[in-house]
Amino acid sequence: MHRVTLIRGDGSGPDITAATLKVIEATGVDIMWDEVVAGEDALSQKGTPLPQEVLDSIQKNGVALKGPLTTPVGTGFRSVNVALRQNLGLYTNLRPAKSYPGVNSLFKNIDLIVVRENTEDLYSGVEHMVGKDAAESIKIITREASHKIVKFAFEYAIKHSRQKVTAVHKANILKYSDGLFLEEARSVAQNYPQIEFEERIVDNMCMQLVQKPENYDVMVMPNLYGDIVSDLCAGLVGGLGLAPGANIGDEAAVFEPVHGSAPKYAGMDKVNPTAMILSAVLLMEHLGEFEVARKIEDSLAEVIAKGSKVTYDLGGEAKTSEMAEAIVEKIKTR
Ligand code: NAD
Repeated sequence: MHRVTLIRGDGSGPDITAATLKVIEATGVDIMWDEVVAGEDALSQKGTPLPQEVLDSIQKNGVALKGPLTTPVGTGFRSVNVALRQNLGLYTNLRPAKSYPGVNSLFKNIDLIVVRENTEDLYSGVEHMVGKDAAESIKIITREASHKIVKFAFEYAIKHSRQKVTAVHKANILKYSDGLFLEEARSVAQNYPQIEFEERIVDNMCMQLVQKPENYDVMVMPNLYGDIVSDLCAGLVGGLGLAPGANIGDEAAVFEPVHGSAPKYAGMDKVNPTAMILSAVLLMEHLGEFEVARKIEDSLAEVIAKGSKVTYDLGGEAKTSEMAEAIVEKIKTR
């Protein structure tokens, strides 16, 4: 039996979480959910959006499935999502982008993995005004974090039978920071002669991804490029409703869709559960439940391909729960 922390999330989070739990349950995998409350509900019930028991539960279980959490813009509490990553040392953000037949996209047969460093770069929060009319943001790149993220990318490539790792950078301009990242990437690559290694400057990478996405496999990069390139990749496969994610550290891992809480659809049973269900597929792989992962992904792919029980963003009229029900029916036939 696996013990997994569950956070249902804000906005439309509870709808997609309920759908995902139904799908997981249909596979028969033995999971005991340790449910905790974070975000807006935690703020109103406990006076903080991130109660200590949430961190304690994830630290104890080592894994969590999480719906999106709302962060107020401009005012209010700081991002719980960022706080979770920092508090739990989740230094990897893994974002696969894969085409599923039936999704309306100009691009077909995409199968890309973005490995994004999750803790430093321009997201370190070191910013200040320089006088009244200038501002400075500090980009921090360390050898240790670069080493860890590139090593993760190679280990991932081996574990998932991938052929190539591409390090993405702007070291031609940022000779110190990205230069350090690239130097470390080259050094780590030498330990993995069985995996092809190449380098791309980030602007060229974006163009190449749109022109020749089939040339790429696993890509590893600092935080900011990872944020941008992974959304580009999500766009190649049909949008955020289809983009799963995982935040992984040495001690814990949190699986969640890339998209946010889509609050305007809260409680309407309307949004696409695919990104969250695919995040659950990543969770199953992490737990070593590869057969369960395949069963869920193949059933989901069949429902998307058929197209009659899909949500509005995929051109259908099904509710979140109806799409989940259709996936459950497919799982039962496997
Ligand atoms: P969002 O991703 O929630 O929604 C943007 C738009 O994308 C939605 O209005 C909707 O049209 C579409 N969309 C998103 N998810 C969808 C789905 N599953 N199915 C169909 N359509 C979908 O982005 P936002 O509006 O910028 O953010 C809303 C809130 O979510 C903010 O408070 C933000 O801080 C938070 N957020 C949380 C996370 C997280 O929990 N990891 C990530 C991003 C944003």
